[in-house]
Amino acid sequence: MKNKLLEVKNLGKTYHEVKDSIVAIRNVSFDVYDKEFIAIVGPSGCGKSTILSILAGTDYKSSGDVRYNMENIRLAYMLQRDSLFPWRTILDNCLIGLEITNTLTKENKNYVLQLLETYGLHDFIYKYPDSLSGGMRQRVALIRTLALKPDILLLDEAMSALDYQSRLAISDDIYRIIKNEGKTAIMVTHDISEAISMADRVIVLTKRPATIKNIYEIKLTNKSTPIHNRKCIEFSDYYDQIWRDLDVHI
Ligand code: ADP
Ligand code: MG
Repeated sequence: MKNKLLEVKNLGKTYHEVKDSIVAIRNVSFDVYDKEFIAIVGPSGCGKSTILSILAGTDYKSSGDVRYNMENIRLAYMLQRDSLFPWRTILDNCLIGLEITNTLTKENKNYVLQLLETYGLHDFIYKYPDSLSGGMRQRVALIRTLALKPDILLLDEAMSALDYQSRLAISDDIYRIIKNEGKTAIMVTHDISEAISMADRVIVLTKRPATIKNIYEIKLTNKSTPIHNRKCIEFSDYYDQIWRDLDVHI
């Protein structure tokens, strides 16, 4: 029996401006299971980031319920900009969360060193972010996030700032790291291929106000890493269906 980690029920959000109000989200319901990789796709400006920030607790919901079925659940948020500090080494960037939360123990530091080693960054730990490629910096940002041992990772267009080639490579890296470390992930993206190639389930949103258009369980023959998954025979069927879901003219 799969363990339900998060229940979102009838979530709604209205932003109140001086003159009028904007309904960003309406009646959004979905569940997330332990170790599941969920992708949320939808047109630009439909309310994806709003959903994620409500899940992260950095914004308020207007209605509905968000329930985590775990006490003291640890959430981590990863954004498009890697926001590494240029004056800190790679290692020190990865340790910053532990410093801030006063949990920089020897054990936690070793965990970070081990992640940097496992994911090919060991030779760079005393280098500065400027000397790394965009893809590597994003990998560092992910390790900095994992340092706090989160139960759920929230990724908001985390790969969008990168060029196409780096994006494919870093999608593979991020996927591998998240699956290897046994994490649950909710990733927001406007890129249909990225969603299908990475996720166990894809939630498709309508244009604003975001409501749920469809939820797809992605079943691919010989499912493996995101780059490989793009070549699976079922891939283009999912792509066509989701593309049709998103196309406002049909
Ligand atoms: P997405 O991430 O899908 O591109 P957002 O969740 O950022 O979309 O935004 C959804 C809608 O809510 C947009 O129309 C945006 O203008 C509006 N919105 C987002 N944040 C705020 C805010 N803080 N105040 C007012 N309106 C907002
Ligand atoms: Mg957004």
